Amino acid sequence: MKRIGIIICDRYRDCGGGKCFRALRERRGAFSIYPAEESVEIVGYSTCGGCPGGNVEYVPEEMKKNGAEAIHLATGLVVGYPPCPNIRRFKLFIETIYGLPVVIGTHPIPQKYMDAHGKLPFWKDHNMAEIAQPLLIESAEIKAAYN
Ligand code: SF4
Repeated sequence: MKRIGIIICDRYRDCGGGKCFRALRERRGAFSIYPAEESVEIVGYSTCGGCPGGNVEYVPEEMKKNGAEAIHLATGLVVGYPPCPNIRRFKLFIETIYGLPVVIGTHPIPQKYMDAHGKLPFWKDHNMAEIAQPLLIESAEIKAAYN
């Protein structure tokens, strides 16, 4: 049994979480790191609180108290326009202060976002390939299934 917390970008605060929960069930995207036979429980789900992400200072503590062993920064932080400029800061802060590993991403990147970001400089400027590798190397077929 693995327990995780998810922090989403506040720009998508009204998101119903459908892609994340589906990807967890299918073990796609960043959830592919968990074997299908291992059960994964989401013990916390929150937004960053809005730029510059003040909720990140506190919400991992609550998730940790509830048993979280890792924190996922949702795929929305990577695919938004522009991507969240604080991803690396959030990861460093949570791992240093709370001692919880941070995984970049949740569900696969929808192909339509791949297509758009391919035409824009943001991902290159933020070196997304370095931090969101598992999301970027997924097949186009899977990405299209998450459009
Ligand atoms: S861009 Fe980053 S800091 Fe701003 S709302 Fe989204 S996750 Fe939070």
